[in-house]
Amino acid sequence: MTSDIATDKTQARFDAVALLSGGLDSILAVKVIQEQGLRVKCLHFVSPFFGKPHKRRHWEGLYGIDIENVDISEDYVRLLVERPVYGFGKVLNPCVDCKILMMRKARERMEHYGATFIISGEVLGQRPMSQRQDTLNVIRRDAEVREMLLRPLCAKHLDPTPMELDGLVDRERLLGIKGRGRSEQLAMARAYGFKETPTPGGGCMLAEKENARRYWPVLCHAPIPSVRDFKLSNIGRQYWAGNRWTMIGRNQMDNLSLLKVCADDDYVFRLRGFPGPIGVGRHFEGQPWTEEEVRHAAAFVASFSPKAVASGQDVSVRVCRATDLRRQQQNDGEHGPVEGEVVHAVTPDRTPATGWTESAWVDVREEIRADMRDKRG
Ligand code: SF4
Repeated sequence: MTSDIATDKTQARFDAVALLSGGLDSILAVKVIQEQGLRVKCLHFVSPFFGKPHKRRHWEGLYGIDIENVDISEDYVRLLVERPVYGFGKVLNPCVDCKILMMRKARERMEHYGATFIISGEVLGQRPMSQRQDTLNVIRRDAEVREMLLRPLCAKHLDPTPMELDGLVDRERLLGIKGRGRSEQLAMARAYGFKETPTPGGGCMLAEKENARRYWPVLCHAPIPSVRDFKLSNIGRQYWAGNRWTMIGRNQMDNLSLLKVCADDDYVFRLRGFPGPIGVGRHFEGQPWTEEEVRHAAAFVASFSPKAVASGQDVSVRVCRATDLRRQQQNDGEHGPVEGEVVHAVTPDRTPATGWTESAWVDVREEIRADMRDKRG
């Protein structure tokens, strides 16, 4: 786990740490506790699938809260690779296991801040998977936070916690929100005078079909899926042919991101003489592509350049390893020869024999279901 705590100049003492997704409920839970004169350190968890660490200062100023960004990417990828004990939700969201992981991380941070309890913005009955009474109990039990977790927004529907019983927290000033409605939370946001009202949730890409299509092939084909793999899968267009993986930029920002995030050993495809996207090909360890496969990928990447296609001719695609391109760019800037680069003359081809395809959600959904059935045995 990495965090920005090293930059804190003073290690102020706090009464509680809070799970802060950046969604409305998590912020309101913090405000309810702050109103009782208690000090709260908010933990904003970050991974390739959620988190907006760049918003930390903005939120601190806007809502009068104190935030630490906590990167849990490595742990989160391990959770997905090993598969969640409590399964996935409607898409690829392992909400119950995710909450357990975050609670455990929060428990680890408590001592550092001198905090004696954890708060979260969960609302009983709001989410079908992770906010039912039984799953709220499972999360509390499995994360081993039974005696230290307070859910201020729905506390009145739950048994009093030790923090309420010993008078640290005034139960009378906690809330009894229940269900999927948002009116109470929106009224609270108005009462607090929030200049920006955040969306209900924190924005999790694992809960979106579009993104699940990107992540699932990585989980299925990468021998050891890494944080970098999932960061790559967030960028540009994603195509797979068996365990061969090609990513293609949709715009300049994608192109720059692909070059920045790809692994040293990845293939980089760049058109010569025509504007066009950057392509990145993943060479999994011990399984280098054949020369023919590289040529097919070059033709495929070229097919995303309208001008190359319109030329009606063979076009040149430069192919090198990312590490060689990076070395050349460090030494010579944008221009100059790249060690080991091969130039392929290819006809732009959107349907080369390699059979690059984008995963369809309906197929991915079936694969996820089959995978979960297998795991349950
Ligand atoms: S929606 Fe995403 S971030 Fe939220 S609990 Fe579920 S998996 Fe975790």
